[in-house]
Amino acid sequence: MIKYLNNYIVWLEVLVGDGCLHLLAVIRLRDCLDENEERLEPVLTEHLLLTILWRVHEDARQFFHKCEMWSRGEQLPKSNLSGMVTLLEEELMIVRSITCPYDKFLEKKKDKEKEKGKGKDREKAKPSDETKKREPQATVNPTIPALCSATIKKIKAAHPSITTITEFAAQTGIPLKDLLVSSRGSCSNFTLFGVCTSRCPYNHFTAPVPNTRQKDVNSQLIQGLKTLDDKKKAASA
Ligand SMILES: [Zn+2]
Repeated sequence: MIKYLNNYIVWLEVLVGDGCLHLLAVIRLRDCLDENEERLEPVLTEHLLLTILWRVHEDARQFFHKCEMWSRGEQLPKSNLSGMVTLLEEELMIVRSITCPYDKFLEKKKDKEKEKGKGKDREKAKPSDETKKREPQATVNPTIPALCSATIKKIKAAHPSITTITEFAAQTGIPLKDLLVSSRGSCSNFTLFGVCTSRCPYNHFTAPVPNTRQKDVNSQLIQGLKTLDDKKKAASA
């Protein structure tokens, strides 16, 4: 991802010069990903990466379109990426993009992987490459942390559309970092929500979560559930 952004940055520098606001925003995004690598690693799912790239693409489109339309005396076009970078820095999350055709991308990727077959080794430590090499892993966790399981059950029953902690965080505004129960490199969706896909790049561990952490996360879950319930009530009222 960082490599990709670096290439894009060089390309923009050559093409538009280094004062471009979209370019500056992309540089800030790159630096944010770079500096927060360790914290971000467990939450950078395929969807989240796609969301980031899609937002960059959309921002480029709107920004350069406005540049084309710009005439002297008007306000200069702005980049809209800074909000996303701030979210990433502070909350380790981005709300899903409404306009991104996730299914199309993820399907294409699957096809490509099939075509490529074994192919050459691409960038090291790329999650998708790693999943290819690995055996399919468990998709159901029978041992959701005991102190959270009752709340998780309630969330699932009342809000079946929410299936991942990323979505839960996005819908409730609770920072994702307050919901992570697993160690680095392992999958919190699996540990906490009890389900995940076999293609998930993170490890599906059933290692016990310390009680204090369970309690903290559970209180966040309760708070989030309340937010969701209130939203639902407001929507049906
Ligand atoms: Zn997973």
